[in-house]
Amino acid sequence: IRERVDTGHSQYDIVIGTGLLAQIGQFLQELNVKASSRHLIITDTNVQAAGHLSPVLASLQAAGYRAEVFVIPAGEASKRLELAEQAFEFAYEAGLDRHSVVLALGGGVVGDFAGFVAAAYMRGISFVQLPTTLLAHDSAVGGKVAVNLSGAKNIIGAFHQPLAVIYDIAALQTLPIGELRSGFAEAIKHGIILDAELFAWMTEQTPSILQNDPVAMGELLARSCRIKAGVVSADEQERGLRAILNFGHTLGHAVETLAGSGHFRHGEAVAIGMVAAAELSVNLGYCAPTAAAEVEAMVERAGLPTRIPAHINTEELIKSMQKDKKASGGTLTFVLLCRIGEVEIVKDVPPERVREVIASRR
Ligand code: NAD
Ligand code: ZN
Repeated sequence: IRERVDTGHSQYDIVIGTGLLAQIGQFLQELNVKASSRHLIITDTNVQAAGHLSPVLASLQAAGYRAEVFVIPAGEASKRLELAEQAFEFAYEAGLDRHSVVLALGGGVVGDFAGFVAAAYMRGISFVQLPTTLLAHDSAVGGKVAVNLSGAKNIIGAFHQPLAVIYDIAALQTLPIGELRSGFAEAIKHGIILDAELFAWMTEQTPSILQNDPVAMGELLARSCRIKAGVVSADEQERGLRAILNFGHTLGHAVETLAGSGHFRHGEAVAIGMVAAAELSVNLGYCAPTAAAEVEAMVERAGLPTRIPAHINTEELIKSMQKDKKASGGTLTFVLLCRIGEVEIVKDVPPERVREVIASRR
């Protein structure tokens, strides 16, 4: 399955299929990547341990490519500048030049980190996304790359579109169920914001998706990537439409940050944020209670959390939302639900109304 992203000044393919990691060498040849330069694979410890690095290395070698490997510790904590600096030094020592390509083999953490390294090394070299999580259908498409500051997510980064996204469905077979659910949350989001039909399909297919059925997974990835690609093609740098992708993220990011490291996965926090945003939408008169109930039922069916833990302070949540880089001047902006498949960006939501929803989501 191929989907195309076209932002106007950047075009690339998303290729989805089974066994693609063992064909990376041929893909690089098709993309006219030079065999005379050294290349760099960035992956994490879990992805390597799950056995996904070996086929990539073998395929590159068979196609005549020389690649070095930089392995980062699995987990969000690796999205930091000091580790990026080590990667820059590693790349420089290995002799990477302006024709070199970075291969990001892993989930969203590896994709964001490796994409950031590629965006800054020698003022930007090409990179290819090789996503290995379900969540990465979201993070690998769109060109947002970043590392974190200690208390704030994705603050140091760039827009840097990949040369291609090559998605091997088979790699998802080793993904733990918790990670599958977390990624499913972002797919649910894509249905809610733009595609009622996809939402209905996901409702039916939830058991197959949670069993990691390759056919259901392939269709889910294709449909969700198509939505993300469409939004990014229309608005690469988030001047308007792209902001709808933040549905569930205003509160979700705050919950993710304040719950403490390791408490919630990204998609889990987003799930809580989506249910809260839907309730806020009802309270502010943007949608019918039935639409919010559908969101909550879907999130529950996926086995994702719907409630804000008691140890997270309401005022800290509000403060964190006001400081989010997507906020402007300390006001609260929410993506609100109108109906399944349609949302609206609403600025200056009164903090009082948000406090009410936080209280009711405990
Ligand atoms: P992740 O990369 O940490 O992967 C989740 C876990 O699964 C990790 O422990 C990883 O080592 C492991 N793993 C990955 N692939 C595996 C496989 N095939 N088999 C076994 N284990 C595997 O996290 P994620 O959920 O993929 O991504 C979350 C990150 O993505 C966050 O940092 C978030 O900010 C970022 N993100 C970025 C964007 C964007 O537009 N750039 C969008 C959404 C999320
Ligand atoms: Zn997200």
